[in-house]
Amino acid sequence: MTEPATVAPPRHGPATPLDIDGIRADFPILGTAARDGRPLVYLDNAATSQKPRQVIDAVSRFYASENANIHRGLHFLSERATAAFDVAREKVARFLGAGSPSEIVFTRGTTEAINLVAQSWGRTSLRPGDEVLVTEMEHHANLVPWQVVCEQTGAAFRAVPITDRGELNLDAFDRLLTDRTRLFAVGHVSNALGTMNPVRELAVRARARGALVLVDGAQSAPHFPIDVAELGCDFFACSGHKLFGPTGIGVLYGRKAILDEMPPWQTGGDMVERVTLEGSTWAPPPARFEAGTPPIAEVIGLAAAIDYVERVGLDVIGHREGELLGRATELVRAIPGVRLVGTAREKAAVLSFVLDGVHPHDVGTVLDDEGVAVRAGHHCAQPVMRRFGVPATVRASFAFYNTADEIDALVRGVERARAVFG
Ligand code: PLP
Repeated sequence: MTEPATVAPPRHGPATPLDIDGIRADFPILGTAARDGRPLVYLDNAATSQKPRQVIDAVSRFYASENANIHRGLHFLSERATAAFDVAREKVARFLGAGSPSEIVFTRGTTEAINLVAQSWGRTSLRPGDEVLVTEMEHHANLVPWQVVCEQTGAAFRAVPITDRGELNLDAFDRLLTDRTRLFAVGHVSNALGTMNPVRELAVRARARGALVLVDGAQSAPHFPIDVAELGCDFFACSGHKLFGPTGIGVLYGRKAILDEMPPWQTGGDMVERVTLEGSTWAPPPARFEAGTPPIAEVIGLAAAIDYVERVGLDVIGHREGELLGRATELVRAIPGVRLVGTAREKAAVLSFVLDGVHPHDVGTVLDDEGVAVRAGHHCAQPVMRRFGVPATVRASFAFYNTADEIDALVRGVERARAVFG
């Protein structure tokens, strides 16, 4: 497998200078020490990102002065909590470019959002002879739920292969997309490779064949502006904890006409219209898909995270991360023995690599000794590892609060790993 000679990470957005010291001061954890008192260099943002104090404060303010269950009580606190929750849904809808807050379903995360679509829409709509198309670069969260629902319904499961650069093979996509394809599920940005997929073009082609399009936005929503209308997708899923918000909260955007037709996938309180001992009827979306008490404080925290990134500016964030990725790519690839895994022409915020003769876990351990937090593993994308013939990679992933000095620390750590193990 030959590695392409060059990689030119894109520069998204305008070159607006950031007050990086001010931004870093907003993230208390960035000032904490790592092993042996070394400064923490946090380059594991694709796994989860850090939280600004504005998010931490919003969650603790909610518990200190607004906490109550929503939608059920007539009392003062419940009204207050309900108002904050509803405002948050409106904010998320605007943030993603949805037509209305009723197209926004709160879930526990991207994983739950995709399982919701697979088990609600997929389980009731797919038939033998139908096909579901995914790609070889999907996170397991956008692959296994489709395998399972295909087994349950008799539909066929297909995957678009990837090239040596880690881009989708578009000729194969055109061949695999047929009139039998009922849904195309694709990651916006690959968490293992950093590849940015041309989702808008793919969605046009898929919808022209009559397929629905689901975009896994876990790795795109934190890094650049999203507009689901412009993307032309039917579903978009993302996670709050990767977007500088709390864990336990995610979002499913679904086009209203499709959500309206989908049955619930979990049942219980708050999702019903009328319940008798003879049977029940369902509330309209989004309530239909939000059985039980929702993660109220987490929704409030997510809204605060959206306020934060919008204040910084997602264009500005995309630009800065493009610069960080460009610098890291150049310096890491120059280290003898390094092979980059994923050299797509359009990439975002992720640098995956292997070091000749050294297991990625050993590289990760040496980096950890230096206070540099990266991830070494298969990144829940085992088909990608198989495609590139590696058991695992080292993955450094960036956020706008990272600095050039932190990338230099990464480079020093990889060089040290090479000296120790190479
Ligand atoms: N999709 C992608 C591309 C991811 O990177 C991840 C998490 O790493 C997920 C889905 C799953 O997200 P969560 O664990 O927040 O549900």
